[in-house]
Amino acid sequence: MVLECPRCKRPLAAADLGGTTVDACAGCGGTWLDRGELEAVAARPAAASETAASPFVETAVKYLPCPRCRQLMTRRQYERFSGVVLDYCGAHGVWADRGEIERVQAFLQAGGVERRARREEEERKLARSVERYGTDRGAGADTSHGWVDVALWVW
Ligand SMILES: [Zn+2]
Ligand SMILES: [Zn+2]
Repeated sequence: MVLECPRCKRPLAAADLGGTTVDACAGCGGTWLDRGELEAVAARPAAASETAASPFVETAVKYLPCPRCRQLMTRRQYERFSGVVLDYCGAHGVWADRGEIERVQAFLQAGGVERRARREEEERKLARSVERYGTDRGAGADTSHGWVDVALWVW
């Protein structure tokens, strides 16, 4: 089955990415990674490459169809704090635009997963302290503001 690029509809071609065979688009420079392939690719150090130097620029938010099932994919930030938004199909894999794999690799190299764990621990601590604050102060109007702030930050 020939997969089609979700952005420019060209057929994807098999490409080797540090030992992992992925499906790449020659048109827009994006890459389709089947489930598990992103983890394999991302674990490798980022290589200085042409695609990283000229990343894909998204001019408008667009939901892309999964090349395998054609369902629209979910846009999600890799590891929550990486700043790299990838398109995920829960059943099949993930689409990375040109330059995004390099950014994921660079994020992991810089200890991004540990940073994420630390931030989440801070969020939990803050949520606990707000709970205490909320109980101490009762349900007065001045405490509701704090609740809203935290709810937005933690989502
Ligand atoms: Zn393309
Ligand atoms: Zn799919």
